[in-house]
Amino acid sequence: MSTIAIFGNYVLSRRDGAQEVLRDHWVLLEGRRIAAVTRDRPSATEVFDRPGRFVLPGLMNLHNHCFSEAVARTHTEDGNGRRNNQSIVYTVLLPLTKRGADLLSPQERLAIARLGILQLLKGGATTVMEPFRNTIPEMFDAAEEMGIRFFGAPYLFSTSDAKAGPDGVVHYAGDDGQADMDTWNALYQRWNRRGDGRIGLAMSPHATDTCGPDLLRACAARARELDIPITTHLAQSQAEVATIGSRHGGRTPAEYLDWLGLLAPDLMAVHCIASTDGDLKLMAARGATVLNCPRVFARSGVTAAFSRFAEHGVRTVVGTDGYNMDLLGELNAASMISKIASARADVANAPDLIESVTATAAAVIKRPDLGTIAPGATADLTVVDLTHPHLQPLFDPRRGLVTLGNRANIDQVIVDGRVLIDAGRYIHGDETAMVSAASAAIGKIWDLPEAQAAFNG
Ligand SMILES: [Zn+2]
Repeated sequence: MSTIAIFGNYVLSRRDGAQEVLRDHWVLLEGRRIAAVTRDRPSATEVFDRPGRFVLPGLMNLHNHCFSEAVARTHTEDGNGRRNNQSIVYTVLLPLTKRGADLLSPQERLAIARLGILQLLKGGATTVMEPFRNTIPEMFDAAEEMGIRFFGAPYLFSTSDAKAGPDGVVHYAGDDGQADMDTWNALYQRWNRRGDGRIGLAMSPHATDTCGPDLLRACAARARELDIPITTHLAQSQAEVATIGSRHGGRTPAEYLDWLGLLAPDLMAVHCIASTDGDLKLMAARGATVLNCPRVFARSGVTAAFSRFAEHGVRTVVGTDGYNMDLLGELNAASMISKIASARADVANAPDLIESVTATAAAVIKRPDLGTIAPGATADLTVVDLTHPHLQPLFDPRRGLVTLGNRANIDQVIVDGRVLIDAGRYIHGDETAMVSAASAAIGKIWDLPEAQAAFNG
């Protein structure tokens, strides 16, 4: 069995259920497991003895949209693409990725998917959960071939054709979701547990306003039959709150999900920025998780503070959503935005934020073998290079990581005992070729007349 030994000036371990930072330790990997954490140098087939490394459990990014992000990047900042300052979800992201997915060949879609996975890995994540249009099954191919731990979350919609008119008002249309459930089941049959078990699926009804009661109930029943997580966008905007209230007897989006039996420990509710304090108390009581993605909202002047959810007692994890998949950068944003929102320096501290993307994230998806460095755990690691001038000298590695670190400091990403990123580069493919193939495919989407109209109409 191949063995790998990695030296860390700091190793983030656990003792009595809490984080413990070890100084000058080795982590020994045997095959797909962590075999030991030792003071003395173990013998191994491959040894990484680099100075100034911080060895962390593999970081988990449980909400990202790397396909649509690659398509939309730099088109939607500074208010571009918004109508009446409404969300770009219905003006740009959903309509264009739908058209793009239909227009491109499987090879072109695969090229974009590879770029996305490359970006996620280089952002420091070993495990990701990616909700995406079910017309882009190539996300699974890219994830399997590139070696990341991947929970694919193909969308289900009752109204797959939701799009905003010239006034920014969303018009909902589409089928009842049965076709999406059939597709989801086919993808589950094909992909679940592929890649030596690294590939899994999550149930992913798109959002409360695009999924009706029957579809949401069916999603929950199927997910619970399979014992897999459920994730959906919840209270993303005030417009969504108004839509759900008018459709469903004044209920808030969280109350709507609770009415349907979805508000439970297996639910990862994404964003919740328009949730009331009462909604958050309800979510805490039900054991649901908030997936907090602060930076994508900061882009549009909206505060999504990690500390607000955590202070209501809701289990909260951090993901990057469809924008800039630098997980260290996102933790930094979570820290800063929480401090500004609460006018306090002590909220959303570094250990809490690191916990959210390691042990807490692992608990949410019921994978106690992930998110921890301990003998017997799965050999997923993120190794950060702390030798950069902005990180030396350093007295607290966790604070350094969250307040000063970013994706350019990622040294290694190891999944299932296999080194995928080394010295900051993906070592199983040509990064330059991957970027140019994806760029060519994305260019085709932006040649579409409706892509131009999204910004001028
Ligand atoms: Zn999202």
